[in-house]
Amino acid sequence: MAVGEHRPTRLVIDRQALRHNIQTEVKRLKSDCELFMVVKANGYGHGAAQVAQAAKDAGATGFCVAILDEALELRAAGFDEPILVLGVTRPEDAVLMAQARVSTVVADLKWLQEASRYLELTHHNRPLNVHLGLDTGMGRIGFRTTDDLKAALNFLGVKVDDFNFEGIFTHFSTADDPDDTYFKQQVAKWQELTAVLPFRPRYVHVSNSATSLWHAACNDNMVRFGVAGYGLNPSGTAIPETPYPLRPAMQLVSELVYTKRLHAGESVSYGATYTAQTDEWIGTVPIGYADGYERRLQGFHVLVGGQFCEIVGRVCMDQLMIRLPQNYVRGTKVTLVGANGGQQITLQDVADYCGTIHYEIACGFTSRLPRHYLN
Ligand SMILES: *Cc1c(COP(=O)(O)O)cnc(C)c1O
Repeated sequence: MAVGEHRPTRLVIDRQALRHNIQTEVKRLKSDCELFMVVKANGYGHGAAQVAQAAKDAGATGFCVAILDEALELRAAGFDEPILVLGVTRPEDAVLMAQARVSTVVADLKWLQEASRYLELTHHNRPLNVHLGLDTGMGRIGFRTTDDLKAALNFLGVKVDDFNFEGIFTHFSTADDPDDTYFKQQVAKWQELTAVLPFRPRYVHVSNSATSLWHAACNDNMVRFGVAGYGLNPSGTAIPETPYPLRPAMQLVSELVYTKRLHAGESVSYGATYTAQTDEWIGTVPIGYADGYERRLQGFHVLVGGQFCEIVGRVCMDQLMIRLPQNYVRGTKVTLVGANGGQQITLQDVADYCGTIHYEIACGFTSRLPRHYLN
């Protein structure tokens, strides 16, 4: 998709906020615990390479991504740090990953058996780094029984030329929930499964942002720090208190490109769903659902001159209309996410209106929006 550099709509990413969040977390961690910044999905929409650099500057010693291509993107950008792919990769790509020194999650023995065939066919000069995933209750990927885990460990013990058993991990499904009943069950399952390990691998990790913030005692020697690094509360609003203030790094801004006076009885946008009750000023903002600004946001608001202005009529693919308290000149700043004149709109506010979570809003912003970096 073409990037809209000639349109006044952009995501503004504050690198200082990223560094603040990550550095503060790094300082809270025990001295033997590393922080791997999770930069999957283009750094939750913030820009993977830019976030990786800010994270590195703030003390992160590695990165997590979701898919192999995201790992290769970081390698191409010059990052030498450990990179772990959190999703299931293809055994066919074992050689590629070994050559790129990309670590992969492994969820079953069959994957190891298939990958070893590809590795043995090639004169690869380094083993593939693998992290065994344990499913302690997330129900997504990973070993579920001690027998299955032991079989994989035995296989790794035999195939030491092919694989380096670099890590073991699990993922919690309710670390952001004030009720820790299920969390505790997962911890118990983790302890039961890991009891069969013959030795501790280099990385033992269980913590996403929520676990690291609210259950830090569980952190072993690495945390997979994601959403909180971007300055967003992992729980949304369920657990309002965080150990330190998180600074949101992302703003979404645009400008008024057109204004007009609408007369009572005249309507706005597709379906004519909004009709002016009195004469009023209407402004047009060049952003729409093709940018990831969802169509469901009709009736929500943006900020102009420190005032909340309602989005009237349907959000179009590339444009939307707002009701203004007065006429403004073309080029007046419009804030869709962020602070403006003492007021603010958070990604959480947008997510609440859409009935979803801020994660989905942040990574839903499309590549048509240019990312501009501050600090
Ligand atoms: C995405 C992800 C994380 C990061 O989660 P946050 O809630 O953003 O901190 C950590 N671990 C795994 C396995 C993930 O998929």
